[in-house]
Amino acid sequence: MNVPSAVVGIVQKLNRAGYEAYPVGGCVRDLLRGEQPHDWDITTSATPEEILAVFSDEKTIPTGLKHGTVTVMKNGVPFEVTSYRVDGDYTDGRHPDSVRFTRSLKEDLARRDFTVNAMAMDIENGVVDPFFGLRDLESKTLRCVGNPDDRFEEDALRILRALRFSSVLGFAIEPKTAASIHRNAHRLSLVSAERITEEFTKLLCGSYVANVCREFVDVLEFLIPEISPLIGFSQHSPYHDRDIFEHTLASVAAAKPQSVLRWTMLLHDIGKAECFTLDENGVGHFYGHATHSVRLSTDVLSRFKLSNKDVERILLLVKIHDLPLPPDEVLLTKRLRKFGKDVLLQLLDVQDADCLAQSPEWTKKRLAEHQQVREMLEKLALDVCYRLSDLAVDGRDLQAAGFPAGPALGKALDELLEAVIEKRVANEKTALLAYIKNKPN
Ligand code: ATP
Ligand code: MG
Repeated sequence: MNVPSAVVGIVQKLNRAGYEAYPVGGCVRDLLRGEQPHDWDITTSATPEEILAVFSDEKTIPTGLKHGTVTVMKNGVPFEVTSYRVDGDYTDGRHPDSVRFTRSLKEDLARRDFTVNAMAMDIENGVVDPFFGLRDLESKTLRCVGNPDDRFEEDALRILRALRFSSVLGFAIEPKTAASIHRNAHRLSLVSAERITEEFTKLLCGSYVANVCREFVDVLEFLIPEISPLIGFSQHSPYHDRDIFEHTLASVAAAKPQSVLRWTMLLHDIGKAECFTLDENGVGHFYGHATHSVRLSTDVLSRFKLSNKDVERILLLVKIHDLPLPPDEVLLTKRLRKFGKDVLLQLLDVQDADCLAQSPEWTKKRLAEHQQVREMLEKLALDVCYRLSDLAVDGRDLQAAGFPAGPALGKALDELLEAVIEKRVANEKTALLAYIKNKPN
């Protein structure tokens, strides 16, 4: 097992000062799963003041003294060292009213959410595991420490943490814990949008997201009631072998695990149920559904706390998710001009995920075409003129050639760019000046 020397150093320094100290929680879980932990938390019998005194000769940050957390910096890397603590009552369903420090490791482990997250690692003597986390880790099971109803009543965010770990790790949620999640889903209304957004986005990015959203569809509907009409809604379409909800889940799972992409797939067809029509041949259509999806997505996203930049990008991708991108140079160059390369490459990822969730006979041909378009875009973005800054003339050149300053100048440059994209004129200074001079007004 690979415990970084900085962590060993922190533990030994506390031990030498007479305190217990162990790596704890997520890092122990990940290490035992054979994954390198992304961060290390250390739990100790020392109180926050005692931690500060032990590390008085090192850089520390009093991150959350009230909750017992001191960050110790080692070569610029932060490590959270937290005093053993017991949480008081949670009268608001979100935060403990008070915390009490304790010298008992077992009490500290007992306040943690799931058995697999309630293990500490004694670097010399193995795992400290009073709640049988190892057994649950081996059988890939998520189980609350203690009575699930009590634990979800204390902090309803744990509901989403359970779903998130299940989605990311592929662990099954043990029946009593699962039943309690269904009973307590409504308590998520007590949790802040920031905490919900963080866990829900991680849930969306998991490999097992479709299974989790299916099994806990009530939790999903509690957070996003706009999803409900999609469930079981048959599309009556040769392109689709799934109902809208199942198509949505399959497309989320098929997308790269990046938050903007996964959110886009979750929302891209959310407006479909509103605009269903059936033609005389019994084929379903959803004309204009992207506009409906954008409107509903705007409502949904306003309740979460994603960055403005991400929200803007998600709404744009939802809006244009069906925009045709055929392998045609002039058309692609126009699209490049309008949206830029990043958006178009991301749109191809959206279209990949969308078609991977459709009837298999359509998928292969379209994926191959997306790949061809991706390569064309990369090449075009390097070679062709598609931005005003790529033009061989600028405003000053036009003025020098006798063009009056003012808004007409910008319009002339736009016209020149369009003419170059449509290959009506070469992107070459003399040719461009001649073109614009001879153009009838
Ligand atoms: P990640 O891989 O995302 O870091 P993690 O389990 O380490 O997963 P953290 O939020 O870093 O999650 O929390 C560290 C540890 O603190 C958890 O493993 C768990 O023991 C405990 N913990 C975190 N959040 C809660 C909570 N809401 N209720 C109870 N215990 C919690
Ligand atoms: Mg962690």
